[in-house]
Parts: sequence; C-alpha cells; structure tokens
Amino acid sequence: MSGRHFLFVPGPTNVPDRVLRAMHRAQEDHRSSAFPALPRSIFPDLKKVFGSIAGQAFIFPATGSAMWEASLVNSLSPGDRVLACRNGQFSHLFIDCAQRLGMRVDVIDVEWGEAVPPTQIGEALAADPAHEIKAVLVVHNETATGVTSDMAALRAAMDAARHPALLLVDGVSAVGSLAFRFDEWKVDFAIAGSQKGFMMPAGLGLLCVSAKGLAMSAAAQCPRAFFDIRDQAKHNADGYFPYTPALAHLFGLREALDMLLEEGLDNVAARHRRLGEGVRLAVAAWGLQLCAKDASSVSNTVSAVVVPEGADSRRVIDIAFRRYNLSLGAGLGRLAGKVFRIGHVGDLNELMILGALSGVEMALRDAGIPVMLGSGVAAAQQWYRSCAPPLR
Ligand code: PLP
Repeated sequence: MSGRHFLFVPGPTNVPDRVLRAMHRAQEDHRSSAFPALPRSIFPDLKKVFGSIAGQAFIFPATGSAMWEASLVNSLSPGDRVLACRNGQFSHLFIDCAQRLGMRVDVIDVEWGEAVPPTQIGEALAADPAHEIKAVLVVHNETATGVTSDMAALRAAMDAARHPALLLVDGVSAVGSLAFRFDEWKVDFAIAGSQKGFMMPAGLGLLCVSAKGLAMSAAAQCPRAFFDIRDQAKHNADGYFPYTPALAHLFGLREALDMLLEEGLDNVAARHRRLGEGVRLAVAAWGLQLCAKDASSVSNTVSAVVVPEGADSRRVIDIAFRRYNLSLGAGLGRLAGKVFRIGHVGDLNELMILGALSGVEMALRDAGIPVMLGSGVAAAQQWYRSCAPPLR
C-alpha cells in the first residue's frame, strides 16, 4: 500500500525522523576514551524524564518485561512476601514474573478497567505490623485496559500505613508521556522501555532506582548476573557498560531525550492529555464504551474500546490493518475479542489522531458495528479546534 502506515498500537510507537537519523550511523568503539561522553550526557537527562534527581538510572539492552525481572532480582530474595494489584494483563504478567522468581505474592484483584485501589493497599500494609511484605508492585498505566492509577494517592496510603515496603512501579506506557514523579512519589524501582513515550524502537529496558532500592540490592538474595545493577553502577560510574552496549539505541535515546526536553515534559504530558481527550470524545460519539470504568483514571496514552456484545474486536483490528493500513492494539488476555486499543502515545499530533479515528470508523462499520461515519472525527475535531493556540 502506498502512503505511510498508521501505527496506532500503544507501542511500538512512531519513531521520529530525528531519532531514526541519529541511530543511522557507524558503530564505534565502546571502550574508547571518547565513549563515556555519550552515557554521561544521557543518564542525567534520563533521570529528568523519570522525575528524579535523587535516583540512579540504568539502561539495559532489553525490554520492559526484562525490567520487571531486573527490579525484582535487585530488590528481593526468593520467598519474600510482596503485595501486588492485578488490574490488567501487564500487572498480571508482573505478578507472574515475581511468582516465577520465587516470591510469595499477595494479590489484590480488581476488575480489569479499574485503577489500583490505594485504600486497599494501605489496609493490607496496615495489617502487616511485622513488615513481612517487602515490596508493593503496581502498574502506573495499565496498557491493556487504558487505566492510569493515582501514584500520589498510593504513596499517601503507604505512608499512612507507616510501612517500609519498597514501591516498584511499572511505568512502561507512562514514562516519557504522562507526568511521572519518581522522587515525589518515593518510587524505589521504576520500569520503562524505549518503544513508547521514548519514541524509539524496542530494545532498551530503562530503570530508575532510589537510594533505598540501591541499598536493598546489596541485601537481595535473588541470583542474578546480567541484570545485577551493582555491575552496571560500577561500569556506569566511568561512563561504560559491563557489556557491548546497544550503540545505535544509545544515540537514538540521546536524540529522543533532546526532543522530550525541548518540548518540555509538562508540555509532553499536556499534549498527551489533549490528544487522549479527542479520542475519548470520538469513542463517546460512536456510542461505545471504554474499558476504563472511571473518568478520573482514563489513560492519556491508550484507549481500550469495548465492542458491543456479539461483535469481535479482532475483526475490527484485522479490517483496519488489511483494508486501511491502520494498526490498532488487540485485546489482551481475558479482553481478547472484547476490546480494541487505540494507542495515542509518542510522536503524534492532532491530524494524525484524526486520520486514525477515521480509519477506526470505517473498520467499525465494515465489521457491522453501526457507528455514524464522521461522528467521532467531528467530535475530536471540535475539541482540537477549541484547544488550538491563537494565530500570531
Ligand atoms: N508493562 C506495560 C505496562 C506494558 O505496556 C508493556 C508492553 O506493552 C510491558 C510491561 C512489557 O514491555 P515489553 O513488551 O517492552 O517487554
């Protein structure tokens, strides 16, 4: 098909030409005396995107899933008790990772589409006066359901319970797109990947670790080798890595950080809020529901749209892909066939979203779901016009 493919899955996202160009270069000697300038310039800016001054950032040639493992093996020991909320497929997989590593996970199950419940977490911690629970595991933005949880409220509940558990937050579809406040929320391990808000190809796992988290890594008994952040810290201190780094990705990350910081992190979050709201208005105009149950926790990076009873979202996704050159996200786990997801994360603007929404409308109609053509697009257009800056 001619023209650009419309990539509207919630990761991987569109890689801006600037980042592509930065990655397209000859390899270099990663042990040369010139090399440390690159990592040394990246780490402080990477921490800014996590919302941290006090923490330490780490970069692995890996993905977000690997950072679940890295955060767990560097903070805990087999047999440790941890508390986790399961509110979608990614929190489910984070929990599965902890269980496979030998941790005992107390799971707070909530309906998929709901946010992490701070009160329940606070109560569970308060009911543990012996402080057996070593860590709390949550996903900030559940990409499977399009739900963003309130991390400030979670931190307040943890503090109110006066419990010293570590806080491990999956920020894979949040960091670099939504406001993420590592220091303010007193996060101990924050997890991200390169292929969403960072606007890069998949291939980098990113971590930010607090001083408390770093101290725990010395006590943690989980076997680890490649993911041992102590080796990383030792080499990173001199501007190197304990292995051959993914050089092209590092150059891409440098450029992506420049782009995020040039736009300004608050502006990046505001843009995602504006774009996300347009998608939500379109969904409402189609007469469809979001998987997210509560308007206060809708995600600004992904909308999971529920198809009417009897319809199969896989058909909508397939038609969009094959007929209209538009990729939409699938329903994951128990949401397979029930939702399709519109990713609105990364390097995007209003007209790109409007193009995608028009493709969704056509695919919905073709799949026999009676939406009025143009209705969602018009609702989003009106919103985007109302947000447009005045002409100078
Ligand atoms: N956590 C969340 C919230 C995600 O959205 C994803 C991927 O979409 C992951 C973890 C897994 O990341 P990766 O696919 O990079 O391993």
